[in-house]
Amino acid sequence: MKCAICGKEIEEAFLEKIKGTIVKIKVGEKNAEHYVCDGCQKKYREKLKEKLEKSL
Ligand SMILES: [Zn+2]
Repeated sequence: MKCAICGKEIEEAFLEKIKGTIVKIKVGEKNAEHYVCDGCQKKYREKLKEKLEKSL
């Protein structure tokens, strides 16, 4: 899968874990899952969700 912010391919670690995070954003009545890479996660930290919502 690709990072929702920078578009970089996210590496997968073992046991289906990814090098990054999954951010859930509510769209209407359901939660949409967005993958974010390690780099962007570190870069935006607590602003991650906010940044993601703007970039969608
Ligand atoms: Zn990224």
